[in-house]
Amino acid sequence: MIFLDAAATTPVRREVLDAMWPYLTGEFGNPSSHHSLGEAAAAALADARAAVANVLGCRAGEVTFTSGGTEADNLAVKGIALARQAADPRLNRVVVSAIEHPAVEESARYLERFHGFAVDVVPVDGTGLVTPEALAAVLGPETALVSVMYANNEVGTVQPVAELAALARAQGIPFHTDAVQAAGWLPLDVKALGVDALSLSGHKLGAPKGCGVLYVRGRTRIEPLVHGGGQERGRRSGTENVAGAVGLATALTLAQLDQAGSGARVTALRDSFTAAVLGGVPGAVLTGHPTKRLPSVASFCFPGTSGESVLLELERQGVVCSSGSACAAGSDAPSPVLTALGIPAEVAQTAVRFSFDSSVSPPDLDAVASVRTLGRA
Ligand code: PLP
Repeated sequence: MIFLDAAATTPVRREVLDAMWPYLTGEFGNPSSHHSLGEAAAAALADARAAVANVLGCRAGEVTFTSGGTEADNLAVKGIALARQAADPRLNRVVVSAIEHPAVEESARYLERFHGFAVDVVPVDGTGLVTPEALAAVLGPETALVSVMYANNEVGTVQPVAELAALARAQGIPFHTDAVQAAGWLPLDVKALGVDALSLSGHKLGAPKGCGVLYVRGRTRIEPLVHGGGQERGRRSGTENVAGAVGLATALTLAQLDQAGSGARVTALRDSFTAAVLGGVPGAVLTGHPTKRLPSVASFCFPGTSGESVLLELERQGVVCSSGSACAAGSDAPSPVLTALGIPAEVAQTAVRFSFDSSVSPPDLDAVASVRTLGRA
């Protein structure tokens, strides 16, 4: 099988599993327990937090472990907006881009439905970029929070996060970025990015599903969503997923070490694969930005075909990829991300996304680009 759906998920790396194993077996303590087993678990959790903080260039106390990217996004958007509204009821607007993952988009809609917020959606251009001008146009004195993703999961477009965050910061507005797809490919130094909050997910990086991180800067106020025993400095109650945190920290550290080398290699493979598809399939169009995109995502529309039948044919030939995000798979509706880029609904329905991890091989990509039915199903 040729697996080209790494933006949906990745297998757990061997080194990650090895690092986690003790905390699933002999060292199984609860980090809140005051005996030696508990202390060993607490120490492992502290080490994992320090390792994540090292990659993000922040303090360990600014790292909150969550159950994944979705929870990290929910905590950032709802938690920061609600804390700001509680401090000043006039802060009742949230700004999100038009191509956010549903974890951000639906969190904003929840604030609208239940907490009296208005949601300002910043449009993107035809390549999926949020321009500083477009963001500036929606910021105002009532804006409680801005959330713009670092890299898009369907088309791979990478946003000018530092520039956008600086605009928000100049007005004293906290800026959150969903870096779930960016992690492992793009720099994650939160100070260089100038962000106040940043979400990560383990399973896109070679750690297991069900572990994530939310970075929250210094004194940024944030209302917890999960109440209980006060773990994670009161930001996220519940017995910590020690093995998951260790796995995420290991995967993130390894990805950071590999980043420069695998980024350049995968970018070159992506570009030759893209050229082969565009050259070989009449009418094929690349979606997203031609250069400001993740090394790992090559996304196309094949007008005049059915995206689903291209996927079925590819799978019959042993190639696994997707029509867009895994969350939207199986839905007949065109992708809101592609329609936000101005792609007509009937073309958006022909979308196919190929996404790679660093193990992707040139022969595999050559094989896929030459699949005869690509774009003709
Ligand atoms: N944000 C983005 C951009 C994603 O691609 C995903 C996963 O598909 C998530 C958030 C959700 O992460 P998780 O699957 O860990 O809940």
